[in-house]
Amino acid sequence: MFSAHLINEPSGDPGVYVKFKYRNEALLFDLGELHLLAPRQILRANHIFISHTHMDHFIGFDHLLRICLGRDMRLSLFGPPGFTKNVEGKLAAYTWNLVRNYTNDFIIRVVEIDEAQRLETRYSCRGEFRAEGTAVEQLRNPLVDEKRFTVRAAFLDHKVPSLAFAMKEKTQINIMKNALDQMGLAPGNWLVRLKDDIREGKGADFPVEARLKDGSSRTVPLGEFKKLVRMTPGQKVSYIADAVYSADNARKIVTLAEGSDMLFIEAPFLEEDADIAAAKYHLTARQAGRLAREAGVKEIRIFHLSPKYKGRERLLMDEAAEAFTGSSLR
Ligand SMILES: [Zn+2]
Repeated sequence: MFSAHLINEPSGDPGVYVKFKYRNEALLFDLGELHLLAPRQILRANHIFISHTHMDHFIGFDHLLRICLGRDMRLSLFGPPGFTKNVEGKLAAYTWNLVRNYTNDFIIRVVEIDEAQRLETRYSCRGEFRAEGTAVEQLRNPLVDEKRFTVRAAFLDHKVPSLAFAMKEKTQINIMKNALDQMGLAPGNWLVRLKDDIREGKGADFPVEARLKDGSSRTVPLGEFKKLVRMTPGQKVSYIADAVYSADNARKIVTLAEGSDMLFIEAPFLEEDADIAAAKYHLTARQAGRLAREAGVKEIRIFHLSPKYKGRERLLMDEAAEAFTGSSLR
């Protein structure tokens, strides 16, 4: 379970904040202006995914850097070709002679991807943010495969490569408190291991060391815990930033976003300005709505609305909603 929202107004800088429920963990898609996020929200985001480094998608990096300085932090940033140079350019803009005095270390892991490979470089605050070696590997997609979620990327065309992302939670395993009590079991760390065993697909005979209420423990086959757990399929959120409307992009967007619970998609222009959208390598609201419909998403949120429609944003929302629900097709 997570909540996801646009950081700014739909006509403001792009950026989506995804917070995992019941966990002190979040992730960010794009780094536009970030001032509407509280520092404590920013400090939770340990995975950040950048579509491309046009200024409106990356200007928030400095704000992020400032908030993280002096903290004990590990931050992973993912971005398109050229991303490492962009981050290094930002880091090179400041003088770091005093950072050795920090007792905490803030470490940035930059992962630059293209369709074939990933380049990973590490920078540490106490090391004055000098590159500490680059590892080149074949691309892995999902880019991130954590215990609780994966993040996959698609490579879109925005005249420059522009990455789109989809975060999918893995199936959630919840312990039913009543059943735990009825079975005479005690809460504790053994339940964390039990969840891991289920996630890893261990068989019904697999021996589990269970803790009983009286403080003793007993070895029980995994199959006997069926009544104790409830499995909830994970949710999916997709983020489609700048992209031109082309057959190739459309196919990649639909594939990536398929079945999302929530789709954030750019929709800068009205269909009547489709020629401007095409010239600027952006989508129209109708195209965004149609793509969402084709991908079978549950909810759509449009963003990156052009300032051209100031005061008339409703038109873009309506056009996207009509194409999404299919009411414009009737
Ligand atoms: Zn943009």
